[in-house]
Amino acid sequence: MIGQELRCRECSRLFPLEALAVCDFCFGPLEVVYDYEAISALDLTARIENGPRSIWRYRDLLPVQDDDPVDLGAGFTPLVKAVRLGRELGLDDLWIKNDTLNPTGSFKDRVVSVALTAARHLGFKVAACASTGNLANSVAAHAAHIGMDSVVFIPKDLETPKILGTAIYGGNVVAIDGNYDDVNRLCTELAAEMPDWAFVNVNIRTYYAEGSKTLAFEIAEQLGWKAPDHVVVPIASGSQLTKVHKGFGELHKVGLIGEKHVKISGAQAAGCSPVATAFQDGTDFIRPVKPDTIAKSLAIGNPADGWYALEVVKNTGGSIEAVSDDEILEGIELLASTEGIFAETAGGVTIATLRKLAARGAFEPGEQVVALVTGHGLKTLDCLSGRVSVSTVIDPSLESFRKSIQAGEIVFSNPPDTR
Ligand SMILES: *Cc1c(COP(=O)(O)O)cnc(C)c1O
Ligand SMILES: [Zn+2]
Repeated sequence: MIGQELRCRECSRLFPLEALAVCDFCFGPLEVVYDYEAISALDLTARIENGPRSIWRYRDLLPVQDDDPVDLGAGFTPLVKAVRLGRELGLDDLWIKNDTLNPTGSFKDRVVSVALTAARHLGFKVAACASTGNLANSVAAHAAHIGMDSVVFIPKDLETPKILGTAIYGGNVVAIDGNYDDVNRLCTELAAEMPDWAFVNVNIRTYYAEGSKTLAFEIAEQLGWKAPDHVVVPIASGSQLTKVHKGFGELHKVGLIGEKHVKISGAQAAGCSPVATAFQDGTDFIRPVKPDTIAKSLAIGNPADGWYALEVVKNTGGSIEAVSDDEILEGIELLASTEGIFAETAGGVTIATLRKLAARGAFEPGEQVVALVTGHGLKTLDCLSGRVSVSTVIDPSLESFRKSIQAGEIVFSNPPDTR
């Protein structure tokens, strides 16, 4: 056991590793702290490199060291060198962390795998969550995998693939007539009523959040135990962004990477940009908003970790941009057509933000930049209808095909020879 204690992020009081999310003294959020001194870098490198090809290779730096974790194979997703997209944006060392390739198609599998492993340890009987979509998919799938009952709560206007892609796992899906912030408030009330229910992002959020650190661990390992210069992270609650930062810091503390200043920048949709707005206004106060954006997986109007995310961005010298729905769709198309990676709207937010930052010179020449693409495009197909389609419809004849080429309906960037 190395994940040793919980510590209040505000008053630093310590608590045992139990199902606690807030400090009972000051109501500050709790965070897991480890005994970094007790970890030897040499042993750790070997344990990681001989470990499973999932987030559990980093179990020494996760809050539950279970020999039999709840594991559908989350993590160890490709870090792709994005030469063509980089050229398009004027970045010579750009990488995409392709988290669309997780078991249920989003980065949420990382946090859920950790949360449900902890939940089982702590004796919870039911897996639950308040979700903007991807979390519901992941909780339902992981609960099915271990035969745990699940009840997930979602806003009722979610994308159809996310609803069906949750219901298929056989748990309960409760749609709420309200937005995510309403769903979250209800779940906070319910968590107090249901002592056996693990609401992964409410009463066991402390454990859940640690799963996001594995993004930083993998990026560093995939770069040959080196941190990049700059990472661009989408913001919903802000948890992922703060934990990516924590992850690089931990690798340095245990001696796996040298001291490195990693800039962290944030990405939000203009239709739900409370953190970007605070950043641009230069205030510390995150004013809650009513979300209205196609990036539903990021649509949290009152982000629980928004203030902490803002601090990380400011302290590391990053920045935060907000992008319009049109820019999000262009971002999805740009990533797909230059790199062959199909992202959902949240990925469009990251790429559109990356583009905006590049255009205004936010990256230094030669900077190694990693952009986190966190959800698969098949989850938000509807937003593309009317934007992309078949090139042409023809009769099954050579003549018909030739006509279509002559009419310019089939487009090449390097025109091939034709007879
Ligand atoms: C949940 C989510 C995020 C970010 O989540 P945080 O609440 O900020 O940790 C990013 N991308 C996708 C696709 C998500 O589903
Ligand atoms: Zn406290």
